Amino acid sequence: CGIIGIVSRKPVANRLVDALKRLEYRGYDSAGVATLDDGALSRRRAQGKLVALERLLAEKPLNGSIGIGHTRWATHGAATEENAHPHATHRVAVVHNGIIENFRELRAELEADGYRFESQTDTEAVAQLVTREIDRGASPREAVFRSLKRLDGAFALAFLFPGEENLLIGARRGSPLAVGDGEGEMFLGSDGIALSPFTESVRYLEDGDWVILSREGAEIFDENGAPAERAARRAVGRT
Ligand code: GLU
Repeated sequence: CGIIGIVSRKPVANRLVDALKRLEYRGYDSAGVATLDDGALSRRRAQGKLVALERLLAEKPLNGSIGIGHTRWATHGAATEENAHPHATHRVAVVHNGIIENFRELRAELEADGYRFESQTDTEAVAQLVTREIDRGASPREAVFRSLKRLDGAFALAFLFPGEENLLIGARRGSPLAVGDGEGEMFLGSDGIALSPFTESVRYLEDGDWVILSREGAEIFDENGAPAERAARRAVGRT
């Protein structure tokens, strides 16, 4: 399972898939990508190997210059297209590695509040939680910060927001996530191997960290919301 996110001025779909190939070694049963094109979210998801996703993208290309991608190793919900990530609402798209232990309680609470789920995954509770915060007037960054406090379990997460072409948010607790520094573009990935074709410099998030990415750079925060510095390292595997 693996995560990739890219915020750029150039189309990202091919690079999302390339990065996912570098994460194949971690194992997976389905895969998906989402990008924003003129602010509008489009997703492509496929059961099985990345060739299935590539075939779909060849038929129905994605042109956006900001996007997220995922290889899923199903823990909650069968390995179907509808359970493949990204999970999305009209407010947010999210990819997740790990397990949200309290997703049943969260789902019941959100359903009681009128939020309708489309999948059987634990992950969709995160998408709906962030959606409710934004519906209540929170900015994307506030919505993520508040939602993270409600989550029990282990996760690496990457968020994309319709209408926000220069914003990606990442977060980690228990599962790895790294920030890649590019020139006029920025990256999120499960490890340095995924990011090594794109950048020489990666910063590994520490447990509880979350990060706001734009094309111009990254702002990292700790779990209390205080700004945090994380040391840059050379991306592994770069030649
Ligand atoms: N628990 C999530 C799911 O089953 C994420 C699994 C993963 O780490 O790929 O969809």
